[in-house]
Amino acid sequence: MNVVFPRAELAPGGVTRAFTYRGYANGATLVRNAECTVPATRGAMERITRTFIREGAPGEPTMQVMADPWVVVVTACQNGGTYPSCEDQPTDIPVMENDCAFYGTCSPTSPSGGGGGGGGGNPSMSCDPNVDPTCNQLLSDHDKQLIKNAIAAFVRPKAEISDSATAEMCEQLLNTFNSMVTSGEVFKGKYDTPSGTRDHYGAWDEGSGTIHIEPKTLVLALSGDYYELAATALHEAGHELGYRHPLGSHQVGNYLIYMDYPFDLLNPGENSCLKSR
Ligand SMILES: [Zn+2]
Repeated sequence: MNVVFPRAELAPGGVTRAFTYRGYANGATLVRNAECTVPATRGAMERITRTFIREGAPGEPTMQVMADPWVVVVTACQNGGTYPSCEDQPTDIPVMENDCAFYGTCSPTSPSGGGGGGGGGNPSMSCDPNVDPTCNQLLSDHDKQLIKNAIAAFVRPKAEISDSATAEMCEQLLNTFNSMVTSGEVFKGKYDTPSGTRDHYGAWDEGSGTIHIEPKTLVLALSGDYYELAATALHEAGHELGYRHPLGSHQVGNYLIYMDYPFDLLNPGENSCLKSR
């Protein structure tokens, strides 16, 4: 989908913002879901919201805006009503429960051609990482922003790690991950390692030397829980650097604990690469 924003709705300097729309009907059933990059203005946000709500829907849609500095999430009743008691979906429009039918990137375009910036674009959706175990999709700008947020929230600055060798390795893990994002080697994809293993948030693929992050890890981040995303980024970068963890892991409370270096540097503690939750 391509939405044209009038000049008056563009932000100075072409600043954009990650935007997620979730439309509900039949009570609290998700029937429409989209991720966009839009100009960072109220007008642009309202315009994009109107394009998603069903045209001619009765009543005022309920709009809830949750904003952190980078990500805006709008939830609305697709056909009127007040969440979680949204009006029913008309019978001629199928309900797509948790089906990301409109999942994708809708890039803003500026009539002047100059203001967009950072719009980026995903390749067309050939598979859905939420349901297809083999699907890998490029990260959207929205996903990348969530990753930046996660790193800012949970990766400890080098100066705050007293052991210098640990600080060096933590920095190397972060730099490795960041450069993989930059070179397009990090994807959004479903967990594809053998079933029966522990809960997973991402994986490094030996064959292709790429990382994929599970959609659920990004969903967690979207809800404000950035820890697993930050931990996954550094962990998978460790595999990229050639490290393995033959000793496996075990769960302690909220954390997956690793014994092998350098994955053990991500365990919670004084000298960890990560801040604790
Ligand atoms: Zn691992």
